[in-house]
Amino acid sequence: MAYLSVANATKRFGETFTALKDVSISVERGEFFTLLGPSGCGKTTLLRSIAGFNQLTSGSIAIEGRDLGSVPPHKRDIGMVFQDYAVFPHLTVFENVAFGLKARKVARDEIARRVPKALEAVRLGALAERLPAAMSGGQQQRIGLARAMVINPQLLLMDEPLSNLDAKLRVELREEIRDIQKQIGIAAIYVTHDQEEALAISDRICVMSNGHVEQLGTPQEIYGNPQTLFVASFVGTINALKPGEALTRLLGQLDLTNADNTHPGATWVVRPENLIVASERAEVGEPQAEITGTVSKYTYLGREAHLQIHSDLGDLVVHVANPDRTAVQREGEVKVVVTRSAVLGFGADGKRIGV
Ligand code: ATP
Repeated sequence: MAYLSVANATKRFGETFTALKDVSISVERGEFFTLLGPSGCGKTTLLRSIAGFNQLTSGSIAIEGRDLGSVPPHKRDIGMVFQDYAVFPHLTVFENVAFGLKARKVARDEIARRVPKALEAVRLGALAERLPAAMSGGQQQRIGLARAMVINPQLLLMDEPLSNLDAKLRVELREEIRDIQKQIGIAAIYVTHDQEEALAISDRICVMSNGHVEQLGTPQEIYGNPQTLFVASFVGTINALKPGEALTRLLGQLDLTNADNTHPGATWVVRPENLIVASERAEVGEPQAEITGTVSKYTYLGREAHLQIHSDLGDLVVHVANPDRTAVQREGEVKVVVTRSAVLGFGADGKRIGV
């Protein structure tokens, strides 16, 4: 049995607007589970429903088989971390973290034992007596994390906890959150619209759009095997190949004509890193085709370079890894190779074409 299970959750606001449409997910004990999607897709609504701040219109939420429908938020044993830190400015770091324990009438000596441990875990041990106002965003969010964890919750919910921090700190803190979560072995649900963040920290990702689940899987499955055009374009980047004679020829060379013919209006895409500059070509045991184009832009980024090429299949972006060790052409005519498995097709309904 899954640890947390959400079954057929639907949430309507008012008469006409449906924020969640028949969402079913299950989260395992110790799992780092991420809700990923663009703004407004329903991530926060789902998280708040799990926390008990929202009542579902229909569907159910259960922890270890126990239905939470009639359990109020403060009895759900759930720790929450918010985007805006929500620390009390007039309380010290220690008092902020002790707050939830006091509210739960935990004994003084137990508070004195548990708070320092939680502060140690988020590396704020030395700052216990400071006031949060004078602390950085990263430190304030660590307080938020310690406060959520000190109550020993069964489940940790995090709603875009890093989005107010700068890029470098975001990367550091996401690693820390993941390490702490794994150390205590708690199940966590993490909300983000940042696809790279989701790929980096999650055991599994649930990609949402428009109130429904697009795809649920490991980071590798989501990135490498997207089941809808939405997932392929939201997680990572894609080149959509321009319909026309050149595409028909390419699909023929890749043995994909049949799939194309049976899906009128299909969209065929390839990821920039799966277009191989010809000088890099390796022998592969599958059909491959060559695309000729001219370089319209070359961007050097150190660990990789981005080529924009103009071709009969449209303007394509090609990512070349390690350009200093690769003979990359910066201008003029280039040839790129694409293999059959790198070209993904999606039907007019947006669903992946099985080939
Ligand atoms: P963001 O990343 O911007 O927070 P999200 O994916 O978390 O987006 P939600 O906050 O869950 O999205 O909102 C989903 C939709 O439901 C939005 O269109 C929002 O305007 C609407 N919504 C959320 N709460 C309410 C409410 N209390 N009343 C009416 N509509 C609401």
